[in-house]
Amino acid sequence: MQDKADLYNLGDKKLPFNIDNIISLLNSTGENRLQLFEDAKTVREKVLGKKVYFRGLIEFSNICAKNCFYCGIRKSNKNPSRYNLSDDEIVDAAIYSWKEGYGSIVLQSGEIASKDFTKRIENLLIKISQATNAGLRVTLSLGEQDYDTYKRWFEKGAQRYLLRIETSNLELYSKIHPDDPNHQFSKRIESLENLRKIGYQTGTGVMIGLPGQNSEHLAKDLKFMHDFGIDMVGMGPYIEHAETPMANLDNGLSLHDRFDLSLKMIALLRLLMPKINIAAATALQSIDKLGREKAIKVGANVVMPNVTPGKFRDSYKLYDNKPCTDEDADQCTNCLSARVSMTGYEVALNEWGDSMYYNARI
Ligand code: SAH
Ligand code: SF4
Repeated sequence: MQDKADLYNLGDKKLPFNIDNIISLLNSTGENRLQLFEDAKTVREKVLGKKVYFRGLIEFSNICAKNCFYCGIRKSNKNPSRYNLSDDEIVDAAIYSWKEGYGSIVLQSGEIASKDFTKRIENLLIKISQATNAGLRVTLSLGEQDYDTYKRWFEKGAQRYLLRIETSNLELYSKIHPDDPNHQFSKRIESLENLRKIGYQTGTGVMIGLPGQNSEHLAKDLKFMHDFGIDMVGMGPYIEHAETPMANLDNGLSLHDRFDLSLKMIALLRLLMPKINIAAATALQSIDKLGREKAIKVGANVVMPNVTPGKFRDSYKLYDNKPCTDEDADQCTNCLSARVSMTGYEVALNEWGDSMYYNARI
């Protein structure tokens, strides 16, 4: 199996990977749509087997210096009460994940770029490593930082980084972000390149169903991920947050349409990049209660149970109707394990679940 496919099977047909074919599959209905899902499932099981990896997601602070137009915790939204977990609370959540056998955690927060923040994360990485006997793979999702900051965190043991491109189209990117030096598309690309240069397993993703986005944009997003040679992807539906400037913009797509498009995006990406890790985004579940399970069945192999202490979850609302905000970690783990087993897949406990694509590329 190739690392990146330029040809892929659809049923008994072999199709070249070009934008027109991708667009027609994104718009497919009936038999063609089902065939796409079936083929993605087949490729996933052939290349990666039936394992699903868990990443304990720690949303440790909603303090953010940026103002992305789509996001509920943007700096200018005065409504969320801002919180910042203590180091001890974060380390406890890491230990919990480790003991549950997750093998991996994701540290996520609003974007802050400062010397103190860089130092804090360095110290945290050391503390987490000591508390868990270096037993966890740590993913950071802390936005755009300069090269040296990324490098320092890598040297302190962070092995993976998630930075969504949000959309690979410059014009659309400019519409959903303020026009200022803090929100530049070029900086985002440069950041992704720096992450890869430093040696991270590099992850990205897009929002699906943005106002002004069409299937050609989405097809080109897939091409961007393919051509960049990304190691892992988390992508899911865009969902309005009432307290953002984009809340009332219409994109002509119902939540159900965005959900279906997200499944097709995952399935297509699995065909195009059989060995990468693809997460079933939490946002899928806020549209459909079985959203993440459905994503697993069409090619996703990672889920991210939220292990943030329950009392803070309500304040980390990037979009409306975020699921599991009123549960504690334990309840979430139990429900998620049962849900994964229901799909006929296996939860891989005590395994790091590194991206097979990354392992092949280095
Ligand atoms: N501050 C960091 C990490 C937190 S935001 C960063 O921006 O990278 C993580 C992701 O949440 C973003 O990349 C974005 O894709 C997603 N997100 C934000 N608002 C959203 C919304 N309204 N609907 C769906 N996803 C959203
Ligand atoms: Fe901040 Fe990330 Fe939300 Fe942008 S998407 S406002 S950087 S938390």
